[in-house]
Amino acid sequence: MTKEAIKAKELSPLKRIGNFQEVTLAYGEEEALEEAKRCLQCKNPVCISGCPVEIDIKKFIYQITQEDYKGAYFTIKEKNNFASICGRICPAEYQCRKTCVLTKTGEPFASPEAINIHFLERFAGDYGIEHNLQPTVNRISNTVTLGPKPEIPKVVVVGSGPAGLCCAGELARCGIKVVIFESLHKPGGVLRYGIPIFRLPQDVLEAEIDYLKTLGVEIVTNIVIGRAKSLEELRREFSAVFLGLGAGVPYFLNIKGENLCNIYSANEFLTRVNLMGAYKFPEFHTPVNIGKKIIVIGGGNTAMDAARVALRLQKMNKKKPDVRIFYRRSEVEMPARRLEIVHAKEEGLKFEFLVQPIEFKGNSKGWLGKIKSLRCKLGELDSSGRRRPVALPGSKFNMACDMAIIAVGLGANKILTSVTRELEVDKWGDIIVNSVTMETSIKGVFAGGDIVGGEGTVIEAMSMAKKGARSIIKYLSS
Ligand code: SF4
Repeated sequence: MTKEAIKAKELSPLKRIGNFQEVTLAYGEEEALEEAKRCLQCKNPVCISGCPVEIDIKKFIYQITQEDYKGAYFTIKEKNNFASICGRICPAEYQCRKTCVLTKTGEPFASPEAINIHFLERFAGDYGIEHNLQPTVNRISNTVTLGPKPEIPKVVVVGSGPAGLCCAGELARCGIKVVIFESLHKPGGVLRYGIPIFRLPQDVLEAEIDYLKTLGVEIVTNIVIGRAKSLEELRREFSAVFLGLGAGVPYFLNIKGENLCNIYSANEFLTRVNLMGAYKFPEFHTPVNIGKKIIVIGGGNTAMDAARVALRLQKMNKKKPDVRIFYRRSEVEMPARRLEIVHAKEEGLKFEFLVQPIEFKGNSKGWLGKIKSLRCKLGELDSSGRRRPVALPGSKFNMACDMAIIAVGLGANKILTSVTRELEVDKWGDIIVNSVTMETSIKGVFAGGDIVGGEGTVIEAMSMAKKGARSIIKYLSS
């Protein structure tokens, strides 16, 4: 019988719920070697097909078995600039681990026996950061055939989230000058404002961003493209444009009472905590008002993150932890990473499955007091391939709560697209691109990541950004 993968050590639930320390700890060298040696080094390494950026998984794992950690780091870097980030937050159980030959056929997620590829990636990525391993830059002359005036082209990337950073890295590695414009005061996009530091520590994000700076990428913060500068101006000033604008506009439930006090979108809540340091109040000046009974609505990673952050803030504010997730389907349909669900349960989060809120009710002063909901059952499959929730007649119930966080998805930010008529968008406001080249309707303008739709994972955004970077290089050579 095949042994299960080596588990990474974790902070115990009791030790972690009163702070923001990283929950999953890195493999030590011994654990990494033991896990790497479990890899069968398959003749046909099917795990690679599960990686959106096609890392040579078999090769980097082999290098780890040989204690060639530097080699493993550079093997990953060939395809993925952000090993330490992806090693921490990629949904490996749906991707590379699921396609690993050690996953049993027909399993909805990776089997426990599948190689812990993401933990090995994290091990190699952290090794690279700790040893300050510098990448090699392929000079531009090797990549782009310059015209009679051999000026090095300058590309602008709008947005410094996963897509923007990845595209910038790919271009800079070819010696292309890249400037990133970011609207917030710190770069990182959703990696900074959306993912709590107990999943992705800021020093890891800083190290990955510093790596881009060593490649010559310039990052300009506090500039909103579409207001401070138009796309037309960018096109005049730069040889090509990549739009990695992300999807930062939260969806709401559009039900009665949604404007009551103490109802947050998960986006605002997480931004206040992660980017604005609310968990360090009064050292940072942007507190959040934490309730005694909190309900988080949604079943994705953002819902898990918001709920686990809320629980920690209750504990840190000497309140009895009481956070509940409302999700309209059952656990197996939850889009959140399995590990996050396990961690959330260990930390004491409560779950109400098959529940659909229909009204927020407040007190006379306009503060949230309870949520009215319906119970549901699962019906036919919908367009997402998941069974549709169907409300059960006569199943209304109320649940008291003084704070709610809505985490039901994000849509396109339209600041730039609304003032750029030539940029074609679909009915949701996502930029329409050629899915192979990532070209938009405007020549020389490319786009990728959440602003063009898709699954919304970091690695998928990076996969699009890589395609966009390849097309930009081709465009600059033409
Ligand atoms: S990670 Fe899994 S699929 Fe990939 S080479 Fe190793 S055993 Fe084979």
